[in-house]
Amino acid sequence: MALKIDMHTHIMPKHVPDWSSKFGYGTFIHLDHHRPGYARMMQGDKFFREIEANCWDEQLRIDEYARYNTQVQVVCTIPVLFAYWAQPTDGLTIARFLNDHIADIAARLPKHYVGLGTVPLQDVDLAIQELERCKSIGMKGIQIGSNVNQKNLSETIFEPFWQAVESLDMAVLVHPWEMMGQDDMKKYWLPWLVGMPAETTRAICSLIFSGVMERYPNIRFNFAHAGGSFLPTIGRIEHGFNCRPDLVAIDNPINPREYIGKFWVDSATHDPMLFKYILDLQGADRVTLGTDYPFPLGDLEVGKFITDMNLPQHVIDAVFCDSTLSWLKLDRNQFV
Ligand SMILES: [Zn+2]
Repeated sequence: MALKIDMHTHIMPKHVPDWSSKFGYGTFIHLDHHRPGYARMMQGDKFFREIEANCWDEQLRIDEYARYNTQVQVVCTIPVLFAYWAQPTDGLTIARFLNDHIADIAARLPKHYVGLGTVPLQDVDLAIQELERCKSIGMKGIQIGSNVNQKNLSETIFEPFWQAVESLDMAVLVHPWEMMGQDDMKKYWLPWLVGMPAETTRAICSLIFSGVMERYPNIRFNFAHAGGSFLPTIGRIEHGFNCRPDLVAIDNPINPREYIGKFWVDSATHDPMLFKYILDLQGADRVTLGTDYPFPLGDLEVGKFITDMNLPQHVIDAVFCDSTLSWLKLDRNQFV
């Protein structure tokens, strides 16, 4: 059976400390195990969402993946757990707890799990400290949010962080969260359906226009949900760059289209026509199988829509495996 890797999945520990009591403030996430096989994710007293045991049960997850001939899951935390809003040292405590949990799974089940860390980006020095520790406990990369307390990733405050990411050779998954405008569009699940693709576009444009991608060409970025609306709207973004360079090209004179294919995006499009377009733009070696498992908006048949597209085998091999191996600098033999 060919090796198949899903590089965008979320996991959390079955039990998390009561951080709100421990730190004395805030609405930190905890789980209320109210019935067997399910838990309520609570933000303080507020119900966030119900999750199933496949959010924390590593063996159950392996069994569910076996149904879709998928051996390896790259796991990272659930963005609502980033807690960038917390006091920096508390954010570090939470990141360490979550990273130790993920590193332990990857160490015990190395043929099935690869871990990505989280870092307290509300404090760049502490984020770098935890980034170094992530590397030392065997992680190949980290997941970060599309904004940090509504600061864009273009902010100069993050410059030392990008330097550290590049010099430590850590991969970066950028995931949408804290969606812009969410308070103005609570109905119809619009933060997820409209806000998330826009958030990812915000992140990519910020990294390109500020010159981060130009100054740190060796950082291996991967953007969730096929890069959100960035690739579908690249024509507009490029046209804006050309017609109003006084607004757009002020920090980086290079056309944004030139960066396509230099970063990776995942496959979570739910749409063969869009996926074909993404493949045409990025090239198959810059598109990775990513599902957002185990959440309902995810591609929970783990790439079945891709298998059904009658793509050439080398394209399937790239998306299902080789692109992720190169993004995370993994050796195929570790999974055999
Ligand atoms: Zn996700």
